[in-house]
Amino acid sequence: MLRLTEIKLPLDHSADDLRAAVLARLGIADADLHALHIFRRAPDARRRNAIRLTYTVDVEVADEAAVPNPRPTPDVTYRPVTQARGSFQRPVVIGAGPCGLFAALILAEMGFRPLVLERGKVVRQRTKDTWDLWRRGVLHPESNVQFGEGGAGTFSDGKLHSQITDRLHQGRKVLTEFVKAGAPDEILWVSKPHIGTFRLVTMVEAMRARIEALGGEYRFGAKVEGLDLGPDRAVRGVHLADGSRIATGHVVLAVGHSARDTFEHLHAAGVAMQAKPFSIGVRIEHPQSLIDACRWGRFAGNKILGAADYKLVHHASNGRSVYSFCMCPGGTVVAATSEPGRVVTNGMSQYSRNERNANAGIVVGITPEVDYPGSPLAGIAFQRHWEERAFAAGGGTYAAPAQRVEDFLAGRPSTHLGQVVPSYRPGVTPTDLAACLPEFAVTAMREALRAFEKSIPGFAMADAVLTGVETRTSSPLRIDRGEDGQSPNTPGLFPAGEGAGYAGGILSAGVDGIRIAEAVGCAINGEALPESRRIRGGGGGDGIYG
Ligand SMILES: Cc1cc2nc3c(=O)[nH]c(=O)nc-3n(C[C@H](O)[C@H](O)[C@H](O)COP(=O)(O)OP(=O)(O)OC[C@H]3O[C@@H](n4cnc5c(N)ncnc54)[C@H](O)[C@@H]3O)c2cc1C
Repeated sequence: MLRLTEIKLPLDHSADDLRAAVLARLGIADADLHALHIFRRAPDARRRNAIRLTYTVDVEVADEAAVPNPRPTPDVTYRPVTQARGSFQRPVVIGAGPCGLFAALILAEMGFRPLVLERGKVVRQRTKDTWDLWRRGVLHPESNVQFGEGGAGTFSDGKLHSQITDRLHQGRKVLTEFVKAGAPDEILWVSKPHIGTFRLVTMVEAMRARIEALGGEYRFGAKVEGLDLGPDRAVRGVHLADGSRIATGHVVLAVGHSARDTFEHLHAAGVAMQAKPFSIGVRIEHPQSLIDACRWGRFAGNKILGAADYKLVHHASNGRSVYSFCMCPGGTVVAATSEPGRVVTNGMSQYSRNERNANAGIVVGITPEVDYPGSPLAGIAFQRHWEERAFAAGGGTYAAPAQRVEDFLAGRPSTHLGQVVPSYRPGVTPTDLAACLPEFAVTAMREALRAFEKSIPGFAMADAVLTGVETRTSSPLRIDRGEDGQSPNTPGLFPAGEGAGYAGGILSAGVDGIRIAEAVGCAINGEALPESRRIRGGGGGDGIYG
């Protein structure tokens, strides 16, 4: 198979046009082109009124030697690092989010029959519980947007692009498994794939079935409250909230960024961790048509292009960086708290992305050194403080505080909202968001909104709606781990995914799950991780998927 890159075609081209362009590039007859597979398709929108599509394709031809400068298609198959041998104690995976799911899948594929412990419920029941908050203002603290089968991204836009490099094809493995589990196969080749909430639910179920078929096991309502450590601090087991204990020497800790109680238990047990930077701010909503017109010009509404997204950054004069985060075209703002008496926003969409509004986080970077010094847990206290302010400003009913952009810029509370109808449920309360955010963040965001207006005319429109607060952009701490994937002072504990500070988004969390499963598999077998698979760094920083 040969790879061809940079094949450019107009947006409205036909399937035959692509084949014709490939034949022209190859200089061969139609009969000699046996197969054509699209590897990547990306819109080139640098010239707004002449948007083109750029293709990378793989081709099978009758005679590769006849092609000028042939480039073989690289092999992007993921290969496991080891296989289970003899008898072993089964590893435990804590958390059934994307990181835990992929850790469990790889461990199961290697033959280690992992046990997955998930504090929340199966995804169907969890969906009902989550809707209880959105429809009736009733929060289920163990079953919500953050907790339950599928993890934090189950009710999301399901964006799957990421800034990670994919040298070992672990990212490709995640996408391939998602397709097997029911995702549209275009996620393998479009430049900015997304899945949408509806399909994610069924995919999570399909992945559970596969892990179980390979010998894995799930327990729901199984909240891990502590580690059982030996005199040398090596992991001997985990304690559950129901008082039971499960013996294991290998624990994947994939608990997500909202497992604040778990972080507190681990900190109390002396597990090495540090506070890390994250971001806080608000969600902004505009008519999607405004974003489409700005990004796609006369092509707005084109089916291939779909609802337009944006990515904006502004370095404010007070030294703070403000950026758009988790932009959801044609989506809704969702209530994303996991704790009573607190309000948190985030965004989601369906695959069709055809809701009226575009939404995105507009968030400001914060650092432990400046904004929450002291304990590794100080970032959690910081988040809770502002989430409680938002709950109070919203009226104490899980309604979110909201403000028109014109009012926010003028520094006055909103008393009503205008033409942009906020999508957040169970509702919003017009008020002053400055009461729910640090002063430096408000100042930086005001400056940024005016700057963003220059990139997207209308971005600072009077009636655009701000809803807050957006505090769960990434984990407020990082749990230390070495090149073998293990906690340096708690052997047998393998911190992973977003909660441990090593991922930001579904794809990078899945990849980190694969990497850590490789480390666990080698540790159980008593093998060193091959040099190429050593755990160096993580897949995530703030807003990596936004
Ligand atoms: C509304 C929303 C929209 C998002 N949109 C996108 C998007 O479009 N694209 C994208 O890439 N990312 C998105 N994200 C972020 C993405 O969901 C996360 O980055 C990703 O889910 C992190 O994966 P994880 O497995 O590390 O952690 P999580 O997904 O948070 O999973 C952790 C799991 O651990 C469980 N758990 C926690 N503590 C315990 C315990 N003590 N015992 C047992 N189980 C426990 C939790 O219940 C949870 O199921 C979104 C997030 C939200 C909330």
